[in-house]
Amino acid sequence: MICIPVTAKTNKEALQEIKRCCAFADFLELRMDLIADGNVRDLIAAIRSTADSVGIIVTCRKKEEELSANELPKAKSIIKDRGILKMDLLKKAIDLKADFVDIELTEGKVAIGELRDYCAKQGDVTGIIVSYHDIKKTPSVTKLQEIFHKCLEHDAAVVKIVTFAKSTEDNLKVLGMIPYAQKHSQKIIAMCMGDEGRISRVAAPFLGAYLSFAALDSDAQSAPGQLTVRQMKQINNLLQGNRPDKPAVALSSEHDLQNYVLLGNPVAQSLSPLMHNAALKEMGIDGHYNAFCVSDLESAISGIKGMDIRGASLTIPYKVSVMEYLDEIHEDALNIGAVNTVVNSNGRLVGYNTDWLGLMLTLKELMPVKDQTFVIIGAGGTARAAVYGIMKEGGLPIIVNRTIAKGKILSNKFNCPFYSLADLGKLKANCLINTTPIGMYPHPDQTPVESSLLAGYKCVIDVIYNPLKTKLLRDAEVQGCRIVSGLDMFVHQGAQQIKLWTGIEPSSALMEKVIRERLGEIEG
Ligand code: NAP
Repeated sequence: MICIPVTAKTNKEALQEIKRCCAFADFLELRMDLIADGNVRDLIAAIRSTADSVGIIVTCRKKEEELSANELPKAKSIIKDRGILKMDLLKKAIDLKADFVDIELTEGKVAIGELRDYCAKQGDVTGIIVSYHDIKKTPSVTKLQEIFHKCLEHDAAVVKIVTFAKSTEDNLKVLGMIPYAQKHSQKIIAMCMGDEGRISRVAAPFLGAYLSFAALDSDAQSAPGQLTVRQMKQINNLLQGNRPDKPAVALSSEHDLQNYVLLGNPVAQSLSPLMHNAALKEMGIDGHYNAFCVSDLESAISGIKGMDIRGASLTIPYKVSVMEYLDEIHEDALNIGAVNTVVNSNGRLVGYNTDWLGLMLTLKELMPVKDQTFVIIGAGGTARAAVYGIMKEGGLPIIVNRTIAKGKILSNKFNCPFYSLADLGKLKANCLINTTPIGMYPHPDQTPVESSLLAGYKCVIDVIYNPLKTKLLRDAEVQGCRIVSGLDMFVHQGAQQIKLWTGIEPSSALMEKVIRERLGEIEG
């Protein structure tokens, strides 16, 4: 439901605003602290006569809890002696049978109790919204939960929590309060202010917030970051329009959470959302996969728990650091020393690694692995996944890396040979796998291996998929090797993530198709 705040400077203007807003809103909030000569009786009557079905909230916001959309407040509050006048005003709204009156948690037990008793005396037609605002920051998840429970102590009909977002993670913390409130069978309004908080205003209605605030137009915003009604409706239509026609499939898990996130930094160029959303849609899963650029991993992880997100993908630089925040790590991921997939089972986070599975599925489509030799260029996370998978299948990896110390650490861990890049020419093997970023866009003419050294390999695999055919693969093709790009691995590791989250194998063909099309557009 959309609520438009009426923020006009005068009663006359507010009456005009009400006429314009009623057609677009489920609720109107009368911001009596901003309407200089506001007459609550006239204003409520105007809403009722214009659109009887529109709900009414009466608010007299405390100055300390208001952050105006503009530098200067739209109008000076007339509620000078707030303590007394505010209570009179809210009681009058209760007499006039407003649907809700809003009172700040910080007004305290006595004031909220007095208002609650007054509501009861008038037949409990009006509900109380107990609201909390932090106009400077977003507190921790624990603190938000404490605030929520304090609001409950006052028998709030609706709890409202609004904080200022300084980062993407702040949205996760506050949005996490929506499913938290649902578990307590409590109606909630939860969102963040500020430009960083916009995403919460979009996501909150889909997560089940009681209502969302939107301005009639951009001049009428009552809080920074607030979207206009038109923007809210466009986003709503777009997301509803993209919902699958098929009924949602039954998930293998005991609960039916179906939203997923990618956590990394940076994530703007990631093709995972495109690939995963195409697969989820095709499977008839009524969920969405969103990328979040994260700078505070710990907060993002608590956001995931709080928001009941079913699964997460981890990318650079969090594949290792995420491990300390998980409740359990699968043996494969533990041996590799990196997690790229998290499954949330009722708040218990379990880490997996599907990179190695993706690479092994790719490899096994290409050639046998047992007793075959593999030169692996690189000694980072992907190299670790490759060495682990090849050894697990009975293959013989040889590590080749630029930094000797790092290469040796890996070779000692898995007890396999190590050579420096300069010695690559001395080696012979069945297959060469590049796990470094050399040759990746925007440097498509770089290669980790001189062309002439590729002649002896039957197969050459590059984990890079942008561009699809790297210089390494172009050179290998000329040398008569079979070549495979990182696209196959990317699709397989993504498909395995979806399988872990939903218990169902998605269509790899579709996932590959959407990525190929997008890469085709990128490469022109
Ligand atoms: P990482 O942990 O940072 O390791 C990168 C490795 O590349 C290191 O061993 C590093 O050598 C080496 N390297 C980097 N630049 C180099 C250079 N200029 N010359 C020589 N060696 C260089 O990275 P990662 O997570 O393994 O990822 C590596 C690549 O795999 C990335 O391009 C990533 O996008 C790709 N990837 C693809 C998939 C897929 O599904 N297709 C999945 C995962 C990763 P030093 O030890 O000397 O620093």
